[in-house]
Amino acid sequence: MDSLFTEQERRRYDRQIMLPDWGIKGQKQVKEATVFIAGAGGLGSPAAIYLAVAGAGTIRICDDGEVEHSNLNRQILHMEADIDKKKVFSAQRRLQALNPYVKVEPLFDRVATDTVERLVGGAQIILDCLDNLHTRLVLNEYAVKKRLPLIHGAVHGLAGQLTFIHPPETPCLRCIFPGNPPRDTFPVVGAAPGIIGAFQALEALKHITGIGETLKGKLLIMDGETMEFSQVRVRKNPGCPVCG
Ligand SMILES: [Zn+2]
Repeated sequence: MDSLFTEQERRRYDRQIMLPDWGIKGQKQVKEATVFIAGAGGLGSPAAIYLAVAGAGTIRICDDGEVEHSNLNRQILHMEADIDKKKVFSAQRRLQALNPYVKVEPLFDRVATDTVERLVGGAQIILDCLDNLHTRLVLNEYAVKKRLPLIHGAVHGLAGQLTFIHPPETPCLRCIFPGNPPRDTFPVVGAAPGIIGAFQALEALKHITGIGETLKGKLLIMDGETMEFSQVRVRKNPGCPVCG
């Protein structure tokens, strides 16, 4: 059939290859893709899991944290037995167990202006699965500079938001969030990042295969308390210090 895939891989991906717009061609694009996931937490866990099982060829997952008990209500890459261990390695173990046919590159490091280039490496798409605006803005600046697509996801309590940033076509994160909220510990019910993180994986797969329409220029807002989903148009700020 296609020497790029073993018979087991063909069977593994059969239900998505079945999609007329996906097919072997889409599966090959997914296998050849390198995805950078910033954060192996509440958003990074489901995003990485769904990218791994979809066959995303190379997953670079970056986090400088260790697993704590307070992570386990949402960070489903990590187990009770992983407490006090580096998150990127429990992430790698879990992802490789789910799909041995993908390559997982664990990066125990912090995204910062002087590390971002080395960490993102040759990735063609970035997933912002972080938990603070400060580090998100570092990623945003890099994405603007390199014109890389950046899929932003965030949650709070039972609520969440998602947008697809692809400079210079779309506004950047700084255009959308001009303020500087303080860093703090906020409440989260794990199912909320479960949904938003899975959506981030879906947006990445759509971008890679060219299927459907991504959330470019639109911010999806999820109210988990009422189950209302809405989309608002986001605009470029001509005076944006990053992309303006
Ligand atoms: Zn901007």
